[in-house]
Amino acid sequence: MGGGGRVRGGRISGGDFARQRELNAQAPKIDRLLARIGGLFRPYRGKLVVTAMLVLVSAALSVIPPLLTQRVFDDGLFPRSGGIRMPVLITLVAVMVVLYIASGLMGVWQTWLTATVGNRVMGALRVRLFSHLQSMELSFFTRTKTGVIQSRLQNDVGGVASVLTNTVSSVLGNTVQVIAAFVAMLLLNWQLTIVAVVLMPVLVIAQRRVGQVRARIAGATQESLSDLTAITQETLSVSGILLAKSFNRQKSETARYADENENQIGLQVRQAMSGQWFFAMVQVFLSSIPAVVYLIAGWLITGGTHGITAGTIVAFTTVQARLLFPLLGLMRVALDLQTSGALFARIFEYLDLVPAIADRADAVSVSAADDACAPDPAAQAIGIEFDHVVFRYPDSKPGERPTLDDVSFRIEPGQFAAFVGPSGAGKTTVSYLVPRFYEASSGAVRFAGRDVRELKADSLVSHIGVVSQETYLFHASIAANLRYAKPGATDAELEAACRAANIHETIVSFPEGYETLVGERGYRLSGGEKQRIAIARVLLKDPEVLVLDEATSALDSVSERIVQQALDSAATGRTTIAIAHRLSTIVGADVIFVIDGGRVVERGTHAELLAHDGVYARLYTQQSELTLPAS
Ligand code: ATP
Repeated sequence: MGGGGRVRGGRISGGDFARQRELNAQAPKIDRLLARIGGLFRPYRGKLVVTAMLVLVSAALSVIPPLLTQRVFDDGLFPRSGGIRMPVLITLVAVMVVLYIASGLMGVWQTWLTATVGNRVMGALRVRLFSHLQSMELSFFTRTKTGVIQSRLQNDVGGVASVLTNTVSSVLGNTVQVIAAFVAMLLLNWQLTIVAVVLMPVLVIAQRRVGQVRARIAGATQESLSDLTAITQETLSVSGILLAKSFNRQKSETARYADENENQIGLQVRQAMSGQWFFAMVQVFLSSIPAVVYLIAGWLITGGTHGITAGTIVAFTTVQARLLFPLLGLMRVALDLQTSGALFARIFEYLDLVPAIADRADAVSVSAADDACAPDPAAQAIGIEFDHVVFRYPDSKPGERPTLDDVSFRIEPGQFAAFVGPSGAGKTTVSYLVPRFYEASSGAVRFAGRDVRELKADSLVSHIGVVSQETYLFHASIAANLRYAKPGATDAELEAACRAANIHETIVSFPEGYETLVGERGYRLSGGEKQRIAIARVLLKDPEVLVLDEATSALDSVSERIVQQALDSAATGRTTIAIAHRLSTIVGADVIFVIDGGRVVERGTHAELLAHDGVYARLYTQQSELTLPAS
């Protein structure tokens, strides 16, 4: 299970010290994180300035009503002259209502601005993360669970959404309201103001501590959420459910899910509860201040302090009560920021991953003219060369034998080259190195005469078409799957490619023809049908170089022959690398390379290799005996 960090039943278990240390180490980085989060808002400076102005104006306006309240009491309701002064009262009340309407309207505008900015920032972050992940090398995906990647994109980015949306307006609005209330309180009476704010620093210190705890829990919660997503992704996919059903593992899969879910519940409850004592304390403290103010006011009046009227006390306690929500709001935002710091750290961690394979600054496009060895450099066909290539998979153990060990060969432009050999010999690995899905540990792979490291990835890949062992189709129509190779392809082009791959007749026999949905990963099609659609897709791309990795493996012998003919004609004029177990499919190859234990152990044509009477001849004889058992 990913991560390893567990806070089970609200306690961090003994084996999780590493994760715990990691979480603790995240806390001091939050200040730097805040600067980086601030940077995300830079493109929206204009909107933020308008928001700030709206907040300032409405906050400034909010200072006025309490002062008017004082006048309502002292000049309107209970003037020293006695009796109620209605005209004064009406004017004061009218001004107050107008002010409330104005600040209500400004509030709506401000909400629109902040919702727009927050969601735009979050949307941009999500796309940036998605695009960055697209640039990561293949090995990143082979060593990371899909569900874990999905979780960063969905749960972590989604988790910071409310912070991005609410933070700006909340911080600005609440700060200004707190300052305004403080100013109003000072204007009303400075002695009472001191009483009201004397304990504030204690609350701020307590808040920081609570924030750190919450950040830690938030990190563990997201980690557990990503494990839950990974389990869902693994077990509720078509392949996963097939596996679970065929091994009767539904109960244990449910138990695994329930276990992680239990962990998630514990963490969510802890997250919901952390800080609640703190907020209860703040609430009690702020709510009791008016009572204390009455008491202190009594003392001050008894002590002969002038200037404290009934109006002052009512206005002061009104303002002070209005301090409660902005203060609580600020503390919540500070806590949310600290909590979301853990989520931002996870997002930035992915954004900071440097792709191991990327275009060099001086990378060039593929040009057949660079192919010095090509018989006719003007011809479009492309040659491929491996020059003393040694290759180890990134996650292989030190001291382990390399997967490809000093492999050298040259495939001339337009040649049909076959790679054969025992399972696990390294044939597919050879085909991965050509489009630079992986990079040689030493030696060079040359494409059209140039080291693939000097080429632009999109240019290189645009010249290569791969039909792999495992066919991947999207949950979309057959036509949409085919157009993935060539978005603007016409119906006639689709049909031509499908005819060539011997799948057109099958497709038109479906009630919805080319619009038939292939189902999740193509499960509504047979293995052979999927394979032929994949071949048609590559034919549509019309690449100069074809890589066929067991492309006919899922076909019965009749359709194998038909597709083989299609592939043979498709291979004409293209350089082709065909990886084959069934040697009958490659007897006509221009050159056959026999790979064993990561080395090229034999090379030549079918006839030459048979005459050589080595590994190939043995394999060929074995297969012939299997296909045509002695009667
Ligand atoms: P087959 O005919 O069975 O498809 P192959 O000759 O194509 O086999 P490769 O797929 O190239 O063999 O694998 C060569 C070796 O590299 C195998 O031992 C395999 O276990 C290992 N290998 C393949 N992919 C990875 C990977 N992503 N990380 C580590 N090792 C890998």
